[in-house]
Amino acid sequence: ESFQDVDMGEIVMSNIALSRYTRPTPVQKYAIPIVKSKRDLMACAQTGSGKTAAFLLPILSQIYCEGPGEAVSAAKFSYRSRVRPCVVYGGADIGQQMRDLERGCHLLVATPGRLVDMMERGKIGLDYCNYLVLDEADRMLDMGFEPQIRRIVEQDTMPHKGIRQTMMFSATFPKEIQILARDFLEEYIFLAV
Ligand code: AMP
Repeated sequence: ESFQDVDMGEIVMSNIALSRYTRPTPVQKYAIPIVKSKRDLMACAQTGSGKTAAFLLPILSQIYCEGPGEAVSAAKFSYRSRVRPCVVYGGADIGQQMRDLERGCHLLVATPGRLVDMMERGKIGLDYCNYLVLDEADRMLDMGFEPQIRRIVEQDTMPHKGIRQTMMFSATFPKEIQILARDFLEEYIFLAV
């Protein structure tokens, strides 16, 4: 088992090496080929399983192939590429985040409340959202963010499911998450690690 099993391009591969990741964790081993094959994914995986890299690495390799057109990981794995990550979250200065967005953003890491706020201020449009990841879906629902999540995903300008590629990660898979998966994912692959 090695990261070499799936070709993610030179830049992503060298950033994996710089991060000193020697071998994929189980969720990475199974999820990376699924994401690369452009299928929608519902993955049940705990925090600490390596799930962040399981979706970030293949998405970055896809974005990078398409050419130019938790933020620490996003910056780490986009190093030396032309992919510009931005982060938008509540409880921090919105002005600074807006100025950062104005410099351009290819990969957005956002919490639901602040993202809705930015959409309403006209600072973020979702028309070019080719990849959508709902990370820690069960925690977002527990925190009461379902209305905001639905506002974002069901926005008119958001590319429809089956057009965008959508991935959901959740530690648990209760009824409410199953309903979100049904609503947001297109013929998805279910992965439990
Ligand atoms: P996550 O589950 O995404 O929150 O990741 C948990 C921790 O594992 C993070 O500190 C990652 O940097 C680290 N990590 C993820 N994948 C690997 C890997 N393949 N090898 C070593 N460390 C990793």
